[in-house]
Amino acid sequence: MCLFFLFCGILLAGGDRMKLYNTLSRQVEEFKPHEEGKVKFYTCGPTVYHYAHIGNIRNYIGHDILDKTLRYLGYEVTRCMNITDVGHLTSDSDSGEDKMSLASKREHKSAMEIADFYTKAFFDDFLKVNCKKPEIVSPATSNIDMYIKMIEKLIAEEYAYISGGNVYFDISKLDDYYVLTNHQEDQMVVGAREGVEEDDNKRNQADFALWFTTSKFENHELLWDSPWGKGYPGWHIECSGISIKYLGEYLDIHGGGVDNIFPHHTNEIAQSEAYLGHPWCHYWFHNEHLLDESGKMSKSKGGILTVSVLEEKGYDPLAFRFMCLGSHYRRQLVFSYDALDQAQKTLNKLRNKVNNIVVEGEVDSAKFDLYNAKFVQELENDLNTANSLSVLYEVLKDKELNGATKLELIKSFDKVFDLNLVKEANSVDSDLESYILEKIEERKEAKANKDYALADSIRDELVAKGIKLIDTKDGTTYELI
Ligand SMILES: [Zn+2]
Repeated sequence: MCLFFLFCGILLAGGDRMKLYNTLSRQVEEFKPHEEGKVKFYTCGPTVYHYAHIGNIRNYIGHDILDKTLRYLGYEVTRCMNITDVGHLTSDSDSGEDKMSLASKREHKSAMEIADFYTKAFFDDFLKVNCKKPEIVSPATSNIDMYIKMIEKLIAEEYAYISGGNVYFDISKLDDYYVLTNHQEDQMVVGAREGVEEDDNKRNQADFALWFTTSKFENHELLWDSPWGKGYPGWHIECSGISIKYLGEYLDIHGGGVDNIFPHHTNEIAQSEAYLGHPWCHYWFHNEHLLDESGKMSKSKGGILTVSVLEEKGYDPLAFRFMCLGSHYRRQLVFSYDALDQAQKTLNKLRNKVNNIVVEGEVDSAKFDLYNAKFVQELENDLNTANSLSVLYEVLKDKELNGATKLELIKSFDKVFDLNLVKEANSVDSDLESYILEKIEERKEAKANKDYALADSIRDELVAKGIKLIDTKDGTTYELI
């Protein structure tokens, strides 16, 4: 491919060069938004009944990289995310208890107090890993009118029916309900999947609830008037309703974790397309799981490992982001502290290298364009973040490239990576510094107590994080290695 055309692709932004894996077609496709140059992008937000663990956050980092890549390519992106504060049952389907009610009982607070607390905690961690807040963030409980409007139309057009007091979507009305799951209907039947349970009110066992009026939770705290009686919406209708309300009838990208493919996104497609009467979203973007050494991360496994917990342990939250960027978003990634130590160390070294760039000369625009084209090409290849990081290392190693060009390229790449490569490069950030000083003090005390094993382990802990202690006659100092 001639470089001229590569560069034109970037300039034209929307030059239709981005390639993205689409779960719907099960292949990597050229990205073409509905309206040229503009992208409507929806991300399924958190259910705010508990802290988001780092596996949840990995998913949002994947979405953030896609968002920033599209902007880097020049697209005008409008992104929307919901906050689920009602209706998400423990099974992801129509069985189990509402997660918010469960949390209310657990913490003796109202559902709204729970929602406020965990929404704030979520965004604290989300921002710590430099994820950009979507333009539109909307709680499920703020859009009840929209769900009622949709359900009324679905009933009028006989896609939905009232049974046993609840409103259900009739999946037999569609030719292709299982379109997102490669038609593996047999794997989705009752009993084969957690969450699809026998319900005598349903015409087909895979039908799903749009609105609950009578349910097994008689004292459900959040209830709204509806044409079918007091009740609350099912989880799936929230995302369809919020997306159509804020982003319109044609959505370009809808994203979530792979566990959202069924039933959540399958049901979203069913009800949205039945409501709109035409295809709704073209590209379905799914991030793979973060595993811990014993398997998939989950909130039920005892202590919840959050970004804030990592920070309390002395890690820079961006070391976790860096670790995620080293792996492809469609591959499972195994979290371990050894891997995070390595990521922290490598990030420190990288920042140190950037810090040591001697800014001289003028920016060489031909070389800038050449490297930028390579960087873009890797991102356009279904977001190959690991290879785009390799381009950054190539820039650093290039002896022919002057300092001004190097720094300009790194600043530019960091619009997507968002690892504070330049901002942090000139100084050790204050949190890291106070952590190091604390460790130096602990080590000094250990030595005074003749506990040399402890003193050595503190030194090794710092080395693992890329920090080398230097003992001098005036005390201990440090440098980043
Ligand atoms: Zn959703």
